[in-house]
Amino acid sequence: MNMLLIKNAEVHSPVFLGIKDILIAGEKIIAVENEIDARALKSIEIITIDGTGKRVIPGLIDAHVHVAGAGGEGGPATRTPEMQLSHMLDGGITTVVGCLGTDGFTRSLEAVLMKVKSLKAQGVSAYMYTGSYQVPTPTLLGDVGRDIALIEEVIGIGEIAISDHRSSCPSTAELIRLVEHARVGGMLGGKAGIANMHMGDARDPFRPIYDAVENSELKLTQFFPTHCNRNPYIFEDAKAYGKKGYVDLTASSYPYDPENEIKPSKAIVELLSAGVPLEHITLTSDGNGSLPNFDREGRLISMDMGLPKSIMSVMIDTVTEENLPLETAVAVVTSNVASILRLRDKGRIEPGKDADIVILDKDYAISDLISRGQMMTRNYERLKKGTYE
Ligand SMILES: [Zn+2]
Repeated sequence: MNMLLIKNAEVHSPVFLGIKDILIAGEKIIAVENEIDARALKSIEIITIDGTGKRVIPGLIDAHVHVAGAGGEGGPATRTPEMQLSHMLDGGITTVVGCLGTDGFTRSLEAVLMKVKSLKAQGVSAYMYTGSYQVPTPTLLGDVGRDIALIEEVIGIGEIAISDHRSSCPSTAELIRLVEHARVGGMLGGKAGIANMHMGDARDPFRPIYDAVENSELKLTQFFPTHCNRNPYIFEDAKAYGKKGYVDLTASSYPYDPENEIKPSKAIVELLSAGVPLEHITLTSDGNGSLPNFDREGRLISMDMGLPKSIMSVMIDTVTEENLPLETAVAVVTSNVASILRLRDKGRIEPGKDADIVILDKDYAISDLISRGQMMTRNYERLKKGTYE
């Protein structure tokens, strides 16, 4: 069995634990102690990593990535490619949740599921949402509830679009039925069964969610709305919404539309000062989503693509530019996401959790990265690459 010992590192679990040693066996963290003496285990081969002067945090969880590609809104030439393994590792991401996105017509959930399986086989953890922007939404087995209950990798639905010119504008009854089926599928499968909602630029953007909750037994916490920093008015509404529901911010688009978008690290600070509980705030990349660039006449002039590593950059900005404690910034991309998505073995450095660990140097560069107990990066050297990288 693979055994690793991290010595003398400042551990942010994300809760700050001080200087600790961490012992990993196979894919699990088995001990976090003041001092672990490897000499007592001399018959077992242990790789020791010196964590002196370094900070250790859980592997990041990116809960909204178009892993099998997305986009295409500027025609066939603007379709984005599949995410590569290195796109995750570059940003210290060890767990990803894939989604389909705008194109539920020509792209398939089968491709997303196969990509998720491929990432798992390459050493990281991967899950997915069933469905797309559209309602009725595509499924794998005929109903979202069946997908969530029966398919191991499927943990919820998304991204379902509301308040957007590209959404199906689902009626309240349609939205209730869809989210209820996701919820029951989640109960049967022992999963979150949550609805990841793409929030668009329409005014009063949370109205469809409020209407669904007011007309059913659903709770706001059954919804997981994303892009809540896309413009000033959704962000204002999110400050009230976030007191009861979850608020997910998007990292990769900034500073793509700086006139409208709220800088994500600043958004975290402002949500907290508006009284939104920290546990309700998350940050995802929208990686491999397309970022179309239009001129004043609305003509497409260029295309860009979001990258997963943007969540690590925002996490660092939150500490270095906004002066929030590292444990607060880390929670937004680790433990908060794990709790909301009910990924029980993820997002925390504790005995029994999966050994997904990022080691950061004093400049917040990744020196070492461990995914499911396997070293992906060691002393700044990438040990593991994607199959075709
Ligand atoms: Zn979206």
